[in-house]
Amino acid sequence: MQDILIVGAGTAGLTAAIYAARAGKTVTVLENEAVGGQIATSPQVENYPGFESISGAEFSDRLFTQATALGVSVELEKAQAVRVQDGVFTVETGGESYSARALILATGVKHRRLGLAEEASYLGRGLSYCAVCDGAFFKNRTVAVVGGGNAALQSAIYLADVAEKVYLIHRRTQYRAEEAVIRAMEAKPNIEPVLNKTVAALLGEPLLQALTLCDTQTGETSELPVNGVFVSIGKVPANDFCRDLVKLDDAGFIVADESCKTNVPGIFAAGDCRTKSVRQLTTAASDGSIAALAACDYLNANA
Ligand SMILES: Cc1cc2nc3c(=O)[nH]c(=O)nc-3n(C[C@H](O)[C@H](O)[C@H](O)COP(=O)(O)OP(=O)(O)OC[C@H]3O[C@@H](n4cnc5c(N)ncnc54)[C@H](O)[C@@H]3O)c2cc1C
Repeated sequence: MQDILIVGAGTAGLTAAIYAARAGKTVTVLENEAVGGQIATSPQVENYPGFESISGAEFSDRLFTQATALGVSVELEKAQAVRVQDGVFTVETGGESYSARALILATGVKHRRLGLAEEASYLGRGLSYCAVCDGAFFKNRTVAVVGGGNAALQSAIYLADVAEKVYLIHRRTQYRAEEAVIRAMEAKPNIEPVLNKTVAALLGEPLLQALTLCDTQTGETSELPVNGVFVSIGKVPANDFCRDLVKLDDAGFIVADESCKTNVPGIFAAGDCRTKSVRQLTTAASDGSIAALAACDYLNANA
């Protein structure tokens, strides 16, 4: 039995762990995939105060080292269900169960899919959701990035140093990215924007060889030969396992305000997984600290 159980070892979850451990609470963090969460695969972070520039991997390592040095236990387990009984929250992982008197949900978000029937079958055959993870497979080849936000442009910039040519396919004419990121993308001579287009089909056997593009204004289709495609069109929450536990909004985000309290006493939500307008490292860290201190208050009041 721990004082606080945290689901998700991203920036929000590990920040919460650091604050809770420093407040003298016993803490276990459950992580489904890789410690660090989304940022672990980002090549460069340049907007986190105190770090002019740091790789996502190093940022994640530092968070992990700081948390574990404080005695936080991080278990590679996927939270699959939560039971609540007599003020105790028990998380089932499909083999193990972990109990605590307070629960912090910090599950982040997942990559949004293109929604094509053949999409899953091209994973590992030319389609990827992570430029940093898979970019090296496309050295000196031609790739496309789909998306128009910060993450898509950063992926294109990263790939421009690896691939010979990078098409940046965006369904609109305006990007939804920071000016500095747009300028950095435009400074890369081998990135070619392909605007007002969506991806209608993935072609090639056994590997991806081309994309069918659809013009969003005329409806005309065209074929774009590529060796790889990196999809970066947004994020969706992964909160299905707690759908019956706490209130979610229509998009599946956990309803919690700046206090990080959910509708269930003793359960808190932190980071990208909750309703909010800005999803960044700073806001995830902020939520993590608020959720942890709120959980400590809750435990102290219910001791
Ligand atoms: C490519 C990229 C570049 C980015 N660049 C920047 C940047 O430069 N600056 C910036 O401020 N932000 C950046 N962001 C956004 C930033 O990474 C996120 O806002 C931040 O990571 C949110 O942290 P989080 O802890 O809420 O969620 P996440 O980082 O998503 O972490 C959630 C964790 O929970 C785990 N999890 C989910 N469900 C379960 C479960 N059932 N059981 C156990 N574990 C579970 C996930 O595996 C994940 O590790 C970037 C994001 C991406 C993808």
